[in-house]
Amino acid sequence: MTACIFCQIIAGEAPARIVYRDDGVIAIHDIMPQAPTHILILPVRHITSLMETQARDTALLGEMCSRAVSIARELGLPGYRLVINTGAQGGQTVGHVHLHLLGGRQMTWPPG
Ligand code: 5GP
Ligand code: ZN
Repeated sequence: MTACIFCQIIAGEAPARIVYRDDGVIAIHDIMPQAPTHILILPVRHITSLMETQARDTALLGEMCSRAVSIARELGLPGYRLVINTGAQGGQTVGHVHLHLLGGRQMTWPPG
């Protein structure tokens, strides 16, 4: 079994509330939501962080972003925040790149 919790979820070896799935990306509810809507959009293929992405991943990154927009639209969110924490100093805690979709409350700036 892989040590990556998100790869385990993708393989069906760990539970998750799946919002969307296709061959390239999967969207799941965050286990510790930081907003009324907190969904993670991640590639099916393991990529550790945004820093490890390459030119060939451009379309995949675009798919993650447009999937987040589609989900936000389906949920009728009037506004939302998309975040990719990158590297330990960037606040990343799970080493499988993922896009946070946060919504359902007023966002503040700057983030912590
Ligand atoms: P990061 O801190 O890497 O940007 O975000 C990791 C996110 O993954 C956190 O918001 C955390 O709550 C979420 N998370 C960690 N473990 C699990 C898990 O097992 N299942 C789900 N659905 N989310 C998780
Ligand atoms: Zn992984």
